[in-house]
Amino acid sequence: MIVVLTGGTGGAKFVEGLRQVAPVEDLTFVVNTGDDLQWWGLYVSPDLDSITYAVSGLLSRERGWGVKGDTFFCLQAMGELAEPIWFHVGDRDLAIHLLRSKTLGEGKTLTEATTEICAKLGVQGRILPMSNSRVETRVDTPLGELSFQEYFVQRWYQDPVRAVRFAGATEAEPAPGVVEAIMSANAVILAPSNPSTSIGPILSVSGIRDALRKTQATVAAISPIVGDAAVSGPAGILMAAQGFPVSIAGVAQAYEDFLDILIADLRDTEAAKQLTRPGLRVHCTNTIMRNSDDKAKLARTVLALVTAESTAKAGADS
Ligand code: GDP
Repeated sequence: MIVVLTGGTGGAKFVEGLRQVAPVEDLTFVVNTGDDLQWWGLYVSPDLDSITYAVSGLLSRERGWGVKGDTFFCLQAMGELAEPIWFHVGDRDLAIHLLRSKTLGEGKTLTEATTEICAKLGVQGRILPMSNSRVETRVDTPLGELSFQEYFVQRWYQDPVRAVRFAGATEAEPAPGVVEAIMSANAVILAPSNPSTSIGPILSVSGIRDALRKTQATVAAISPIVGDAAVSGPAGILMAAQGFPVSIAGVAQAYEDFLDILIADLRDTEAAKQLTRPGLRVHCTNTIMRNSDDKAKLARTVLALVTAESTAKAGADS
């Protein structure tokens, strides 16, 4: 079994590659919920939604989020009613938020709500929220603390960032099945998601980072940073605010206590040579996923690397 730790957009692109080349039933996705928000009175979990849509083939490739071919009549109507519309919700997407909110309102957990949604959508793989407790990514700016969606979507990540914190992380427990999946996996893959605000919240939940250190599984990460910048979005700004270099060295540093293999872009071949050390292999390949062929190729390469490493580890142990 392979476990994938992931956020939304970059993670979803990689997940779309994985589903083309691996049996989805063998995959467990542990998903960031630090970006979750209350919107129009509903509980919205953007990364859980993106991964659910990516695994079920419903994800809009043009937008990178939401359901393909969705309409936005409700959003338009809410605008006409002078309600806030900076967070875009499509009509089919809205049905999922309604269903999740209804299930949570009946007293079920986020894990149970996610399982129910996945069953209704016919998702074969296992999708787990990182925790059933609320862990909220807070971005400290000169305006004060903002939620991730306020910082990212409402204000277009234009504000200088002083710090990032995960409110509620120390009291939160991993959702049922998360630690067990990491401990019993053949491989754990960290998708090319934002290390600060997509993978960071998952690692902040007590017990998850420890499981990654302890597991016998090969742990690999795909870098969302190429050269000295993120492929897209604010990952570079946020990593710098957390004191990490904005480079593959910074990604390796963020995961240094558990990472076996870093998959970097071909443009970082020179930097990769300097980073390789006992206990860490750096493999360079094309990591830019422009189309479904790129996604499948990257997923195939990553799976081959972790399989080879796991076989070598098993040989050395026997
Ligand atoms: P979020 O929850 O929407 O922030 O989604 P993620 O954290 O999963 O995705 C954002 C990250 O994906 C950014 O840091 C990007 O640099 C990275 N990313 C997006 N597209 C690609 C790509 O094609 N290749 C790589 N290597 N990284 C990507």
